[in-house]
Amino acid sequence: MAKIKIESVDQLPIMPLTIEDMTWNRTGSWRLLTPVVGDKIPPCQGSCPIGQPIPEFIQAALEGDWDLALSQLMEHNPLPGVTGRLCYHPCQAKCLRRKMDRAVEIKALENAAAERGRLPRPVKKPATGRRVAVLGAGLAGLTAAYHLALRGCQVLVLDPAERPGGFLNDIASDKLPPEVLDREVQRLISVAGLDIKTCMQDLEGGPYELVLIDRTAHPAGSLEETVLKKMAAQVLDGLEITWESSSASFKASQVSRAVGLGLQAALQAERRLGGDELVQAEAAQPERVLVPAAVKFERLPDEKTMRLEAAAAGEPDASLRAEAGRCLSCGTCNLCQSCVLGCPDACCLLDEEKQRIIIDLYHCKGCGICSYECPRGVLALENV
Ligand code: SF4
Ligand code: SF4
Ligand code: SF4
Repeated sequence: MAKIKIESVDQLPIMPLTIEDMTWNRTGSWRLLTPVVGDKIPPCQGSCPIGQPIPEFIQAALEGDWDLALSQLMEHNPLPGVTGRLCYHPCQAKCLRRKMDRAVEIKALENAAAERGRLPRPVKKPATGRRVAVLGAGLAGLTAAYHLALRGCQVLVLDPAERPGGFLNDIASDKLPPEVLDREVQRLISVAGLDIKTCMQDLEGGPYELVLIDRTAHPAGSLEETVLKKMAAQVLDGLEITWESSSASFKASQVSRAVGLGLQAALQAERRLGGDELVQAEAAQPERVLVPAAVKFERLPDEKTMRLEAAAAGEPDASLRAEAGRCLSCGTCNLCQSCVLGCPDACCLLDEEKQRIIIDLYHCKGCGICSYECPRGVLALENV
């Protein structure tokens, strides 16, 4: 074949040439199923009566950020140093790590966060101006008061006893040293901005939009009698915290159930105060419970050793952080980026600023590889 010498660009033959990337071609319209990134409730968290965010706080512990770990716990539990010592840890009985070797020591990590964390800053809503009184500074009453204060209410807690804490004051000091109980109660008071009045027999001030009576606390009797007489004039609504057991008092191992009861009472009170709008907003939230089978253990071994080595590098709290490294973060994205590596269309992306995985739905074709690659059941294909 004769050779042609090209002297200028004008002499080039017409040929196809890509001069920009192909993002204009929005192939996402071909998709039938859509990958949805959504953290789930793992079995450990699901069996915790307080619903503590276990994988999240353990991840913070792994990174040595005890302040964050404590803040995360205290968004649910005002007394992690008490539950960390006394709770019978039903979470560990459900831990999926047991399928590989043994359960993660969740209780010990919770206690470590309570001991090491300083200046916890759980999310606190702006003041609503609503006034609530809680009768009884037992565990459930304190918890309800704490959560209502975090939700912006101005809360007064009354108790005829000398010290807040109810039955916690009677627990043997080797199980719960008095100085630990003091620290925990003082911390919850300062974090939530509670007003607690002990040795009190009467309800001051008012009017109160709601009075919450903790019937699980021993003091109810005299206090309630005096207060109820005034309720008609000063109180618009009333709510009780009751315990289904015939005995009004808790056993030490039941502390997390008492805290859970207080949390539920606070939510119930908030619904009463917030009205239908809040109830509808809550109902619209999908509950995402992790199906244990969604965790792919066969895809985890490398990470298992990697995380343990990272935590055992002679840094502070190495053994605790090594224990935290054993958590598989079931149902909770820990930004391992297996999905990012797996996506053949580069549609699974790490949002550096928000530190979360996002999907480019303009181009995702719904092949499902990301969902297959995710070891934790976070990414699911849905018909949306
Ligand atoms: S491995 Fe971690 S996230 Fe999974 S169940 Fe156990 S504590 Fe919970
Ligand atoms: S792997 Fe990529 S293209 Fe496939 S479903 Fe996931 S994000 Fe979409
Ligand atoms: S593969 Fe990793 S980064 Fe991707 S969603 Fe699952 S846990 Fe998160």
